[in-house]
Amino acid sequence: EAKKLYNQDYLFYNQKMINKMKNKKLIKEKLQKALKNDGFELKYQPQVKIKTGEIEYLEALIRFKDYKISPGQFIPVAEEYRLINQIGRWVTEKAIKELAVLNNKKGRNIKISINFSAQQLNDQGYIEFLTAKLKENRVAPEFLEIEITESLLINNEAKAIKYLTELSDLGIKLALDDFGTGYSSLNYVNYISFDKVKLDKKLIEEFLAYDNLETISSLIALFNSIKLPVVAEGVETREQYQKLKSINCDYIQGYLFSKPVLAAKLDKLLSQTFN
Ligand code: C2E
Ligand code: MG
Ligand code: MG
Ligand code: MG
Repeated sequence: EAKKLYNQDYLFYNQKMINKMKNKKLIKEKLQKALKNDGFELKYQPQVKIKTGEIEYLEALIRFKDYKISPGQFIPVAEEYRLINQIGRWVTEKAIKELAVLNNKKGRNIKISINFSAQQLNDQGYIEFLTAKLKENRVAPEFLEIEITESLLINNEAKAIKYLTELSDLGIKLALDDFGTGYSSLNYVNYISFDKVKLDKKLIEEFLAYDNLETISSLIALFNSIKLPVVAEGVETREQYQKLKSINCDYIQGYLFSKPVLAAKLDKLLSQTFN
């Protein structure tokens, strides 16, 4: 009897693994197709400066045009199958182009941030590519921010420091994304000149839910004391916003103000202030 059960379990897990692999292969094929046939698009989510209520930055987030598969699912597959460098370049070029168009409007000086995977450190020529795209579109490097997570630094410390220093020497801004997940080491601020820290949604959610404002407040004060503005990610409720405002958080990003939207839908958003 016991043996029977064991076998069933074994078969069950085996089938699950097979499905997972099939699913990965399907995603890989969709990624390859999208790269060939212009099958991606970017959505943009505002980062609002709490003091002014104005949108200062937009975070570019990649989507499939035709499938409801989230980047949380397909970015790891793109990394595993070495497609991320090509995708990273597509995102870079598209975001710069769309930014140039947005800022064509008089008096508008919006900045943009893009996400960057660890593997992209191995993309030979990426920095030249990036510089060329900025020039072509007459976008100053200061208008572009690159978001990296701590995991990028963990196994590539020397390489990452050299690479990120090169970017920041060009005038490109660097943000430390998803702070508060993983190890959340502070060590890196010694080696890399970050311009901003983004506190992860989960951290915000949990500390605010428990009304543990002191911890978040001290964290924000600590970063501010070393000249790093702080963004709260994933703010969904007015109550969270009020709490974050009361502890001098610098920026918020989240569904409360806007979900990520296509560039064509930004005009209306960008003329608003939020409070
Ligand atoms: P991330 O960089 O931390 O981006 C923030 C994620 O939180 C986005 O998910 C955004 O849509 C979501 N979000 C923002 N506000 C809220 C909120 O109030 N509630 C909830 N529930 N979610 C909120 P998204 O677009 O699904 O992206 C997930 C992750 O995929 C990103 O996390 C980033 O790590 C990665 N990613 C997205 N686009 C790119 C890309 O172009 N390149 C690379 N390498 N990674 C990307
Ligand atoms: Mg990000
Ligand atoms: Mg994040
Ligand atoms: Mg994330």
